[in-house]
Amino acid sequence: FTTREGYQWTKEDDITAGLPSVSVVQPPSNLKPSTQVDLYDAAVIGAGYAGLTAARDLALAGQRVLLLEARDRIGGRTYSANIDGYPFELGGTWVHWYQPFVWRELSRYNLATELEISPCTNGTGLNKTIVRTEDGMVSLSHEEEFAKLESILTKFVDVDGQLGRAVVPFPHNQHFNADLVRRFDDMSLADRISELGDQLTPLDRAMLEVYLSALCGTGDLKDVSFFEVLRCWALAGYNCVDFLATSAAFKLARGQSHFARRFFDEAAATGRLDYKFSCPVSAVADHGDAVELTARDGSSFKARRLICTAPLNVLKDIQFSPALPPAKLEASERGHVNRAVKINAVARGTDLRSFSGLAHPVGGLNYVSGDGATPAGNTHLVGLGTGLRPKDDVDAVLATLRDLAADADVERLVFHDWNEDEFSKGAWAWLRPGMATEYLEALRERRGNVLFASGDWAAGWRGCIDGAIEEGGRVGKEVLDELRK
Ligand code: FAD
Repeated sequence: FTTREGYQWTKEDDITAGLPSVSVVQPPSNLKPSTQVDLYDAAVIGAGYAGLTAARDLALAGQRVLLLEARDRIGGRTYSANIDGYPFELGGTWVHWYQPFVWRELSRYNLATELEISPCTNGTGLNKTIVRTEDGMVSLSHEEEFAKLESILTKFVDVDGQLGRAVVPFPHNQHFNADLVRRFDDMSLADRISELGDQLTPLDRAMLEVYLSALCGTGDLKDVSFFEVLRCWALAGYNCVDFLATSAAFKLARGQSHFARRFFDEAAATGRLDYKFSCPVSAVADHGDAVELTARDGSSFKARRLICTAPLNVLKDIQFSPALPPAKLEASERGHVNRAVKINAVARGTDLRSFSGLAHPVGGLNYVSGDGATPAGNTHLVGLGTGLRPKDDVDAVLATLRDLAADADVERLVFHDWNEDEFSKGAWAWLRPGMATEYLEALRERRGNVLFASGDWAAGWRGCIDGAIEEGGRVGKEVLDELRK
């Protein structure tokens, strides 16, 4: 099946909209007038990992569930395009066994042995990293690159002489050490870099800025909370090897959509899941005894409880009655900062399989790395950057890729513009300075019969697939306990 989302460019066909993907559900709805339920036990808005987890858990527990999704597919900000036998990840990709919720699901679906290593550091061809800065070009072996990153990142996070352990001993709890947490949450990544001053060489600083910009999806490091990076460092075990491994090292051989399908198919197999795709919900009214959902096409549904998994940056676009509490609305209006652009490229041959390229200053495509080998024997490259609209300027993307990646002979691009996407308005969540301390509790709070779940405000791996599954499970359980009463 083909989703109408995403874009592909090839030399032969130029740019085309829509991508083949196993994430597309056909037929798009199983609602039938004869079987439709007047009052569902629970309705779920959104079929990303948070919504899929909640819907599945509730259906498995015997509840009658309705799933409404704006897109024509499952997975939300995580989906694969299945092209010529290879899954290109348009959004969420990398997972790790330190991420407990995703790991539980991978084990449950017998997929834990299907991980692949993305970055390759011992291939033939250009087995190195090239860093371009305004001062020139530096070529590093992967060992040299890692040693540099380790020394830079260690300085960056070492706010307490214990690599962050004393400040963030419990990364899930922003109330522990509240004063210090507040201080580091108010501080931006740019503030922390200036604090380090001449402890960083110009090359260190360039590499750190490119790395942080790729991690957080912004060209402006003033916009990201330093606490959020300290927290991730803590979740990864306070060391550089695992910090890098948890962010971008291991991916699923058959792709994320194959994994997400397991959730959906298991829920559908209960016979208790009704669903409708291409069905954006425009309004939600909590009448006390039931919640009424109205979709853009005018259809309406009722449920005892609603689980809304609309992402932070678009939550404000749904009309709630009663209105969203002020702190929730304000958080959604401020939004998270991530405006990343992720480009999948196929370069002819295998020369770039072990290559990485970094470019400073940040803005545009700043990072590219070999990510895999396609069945046809070519190299899959992943590029990350900000401030681009790839579908409007493919030539610029190709030119930058050639610059960054040693004149790569690119034959295919596959991408999704998450910033232009009305159901995400951004990529993976990174909170602005002050937002975690100010809004997290409000974001997780329910209002009457309406509960809110999203990877964007998870307690653990916020902004990750793991966080989305954590949240779907948390809220699904809360609803189930109430329905059982
Ligand atoms: P979503 O996946 O956004 O799901 C919410 C769903 O709600 C969407 O399907 C949306 O269409 C739907 N929706 C919104 N509004 C409405 C409405 N009004 N009516 C009906 N439906 C609506 N995470 C990792 O762990 N590892 C990675 O490597 C990684 N890389 C990423 C790279 C990119 C480019 C992006 C974009 C994300 C990445 N992430 C990564 C983050 C990860 O994808 C997300 O954290 C996770 O998928 C969020 O899941 P969710 O269910 O909370 O939200």
